[in-house]
Amino acid sequence: MNSIAEKYIRKEALPFIFCPGCGHGIVVNSFLRVIDKLGIKENEMGLVSGIGCSSWSPVYMKFDCLHTLHGRALAQAEGLKAVNPDKKVVVFSGDGDCAGIGGNHLIHAAKRNVDMTVIMMSNYIYGMTGGQRAPTTPYGATTKTSPLGNEEHPFDMYKLVTGAGATYYARASVTHPIQLDKAIEEGIRHKGFSFIEVLSPCPTTAGRNIFNFKTPAEMYDWYEEQVAVLKPGETEAPDGRIGLGILYVDNKKEELCDVQSEKKEVAKK
Ligand code: SF4
Ligand code: MG
Repeated sequence: MNSIAEKYIRKEALPFIFCPGCGHGIVVNSFLRVIDKLGIKENEMGLVSGIGCSSWSPVYMKFDCLHTLHGRALAQAEGLKAVNPDKKVVVFSGDGDCAGIGGNHLIHAAKRNVDMTVIMMSNYIYGMTGGQRAPTTPYGATTKTSPLGNEEHPFDMYKLVTGAGATYYARASVTHPIQLDKAIEEGIRHKGFSFIEVLSPCPTTAGRNIFNFKTPAEMYDWYEEQVAVLKPGETEAPDGRIGLGILYVDNKKEELCDVQSEKKEVAKK
């Protein structure tokens, strides 16, 4: 175990639930590197998650954690923030949990610009439950619930989340850990609703159902070919690949807890 893992991983919770080759462990590692760099203490942060493979992530870390219901992480996180406005709140979610069953909570948390960070590990599928079509499943992809090919187009998460009112959006991939660290670090530093979409391969379920990859290594090679690191100011890669970087930042929109605390002061007078 490396020194950062030694410091922050709850050994009694091991082994990880993640399959060999799952991208989620790389996200946990990146998150812990950032927390260590920022020097965030145990009593300064609360972690929240819903249900799914990625939602197990906070359970392994030495921070207070709410492991809640499917799709409801953001509602719980908003409650946590409302009573602890000084705490950093970070939500770990999957694409199904966050944009499927939790979709309504997502757009409203973004609209309110609640000061929290959401790390959505996107793998194009419902992994834990065996490979159902998710809101991010590519058009035409075969899954357990679209055996003849997905007849729905996936959400464009960037347009959805920024359109709803989020003030920070970054896209990262576990194949690019330096950019992943940066996306998480800037998301945590940002005051307002920060959303980080992380491409995180699921070799077990997506690898078998959607892509027919024989090994996790084959899958990681494919992911690496699909992405391109964006230049400053770009929101799309010019060659049509999936762009990685900080795509959007708005530092002007009012943050909900600040506005509410101002109103409380007015009400006291
Ligand atoms: Fe990761 Fe997929 Fe295994 Fe879930 S099923 S732990 S997402 S590889
Ligand atoms: Mg998923």
